[in-house]
Amino acid sequence: MIRFCDVNKWYGRDHHVLKHINLDIAAGEVVVVCGPSGSGKSTLIRTINQLEPIEQGEIWVGEVQVNNPRTNINRLREDVGFVFQHFNLYPHLSVLDNITLAPIRVKRIGSALAREQALALLERVGLAHKKDAYPANLSGGQQQRVAIARGLAMQPKVMLFDEPTSALDPEMIGEVLKVMQDLAESGMTMMVVSHEMGFAREVAHRVLFLDHGEVLEDAPPARFFTQPAHERTRQFLRQVL
Ligand code: ADP
Ligand code: MG
Repeated sequence: MIRFCDVNKWYGRDHHVLKHINLDIAAGEVVVVCGPSGSGKSTLIRTINQLEPIEQGEIWVGEVQVNNPRTNINRLREDVGFVFQHFNLYPHLSVLDNITLAPIRVKRIGSALAREQALALLERVGLAHKKDAYPANLSGGQQQRVAIARGLAMQPKVMLFDEPTSALDPEMIGEVLKVMQDLAESGMTMMVVSHEMGFAREVAHRVLFLDHGEVLEDAPPARFFTQPAHERTRQFLRQVL
């Protein structure tokens, strides 16, 4: 579903931010990406829907080559949902309108159907009762659950998450991880940048450890947490566990 073939990216001329990335993520796989601040985690997942271009290599989402000038990037982005650390909801739109906007405008779905689908998604994330609220009147955890519902409204093939719980108060982290776990169990292909090692242990099929733009580990959680291949991973785990 997602494939990186020897991907390299630089910021400017000197900052080699992604180094020889090779990855193969199957449909339905859940991959957690961790690593120190500045190691390139956000850059890595942002390349998948071309929020960041790459200089070398190939990235594929299903049959679509992302870094091909002939690829319709807007069409690609319909298939790749992205959830940001800071939710990024439209502040002037109600919860329901946040979710129906793209299906109506981009997918040209009728507004009654879009509304029905949005309500079903809100039900799924436990927020049907907030359909008419505005983002400013929701907690961080609720806003993030709406953001996930909004991503799902486009019926994506892949969902990407960039530190979805790191801007949340501790008591709200669980409700967002629960929604993500349900999504994982429904078979969604997911890449999740996160330092929630409990989530990685419980939900991930694979954990990647990124350091200075290199994938140092790519292992199932059982192996990642007990026998990491690199000393740098062990150091990192001592800090976050
Ligand atoms: P992480 O998400 O792991 O903290 P990032 O992917 O955000 O790391 O950033 C990796 C490195 O690239 C950092 O050194 C960061 O400062 C740098 N960087 C990120 N975005 C840009 C940009 N748009 N232009 C230049 N440098 C950037
Ligand atoms: Mg980041």
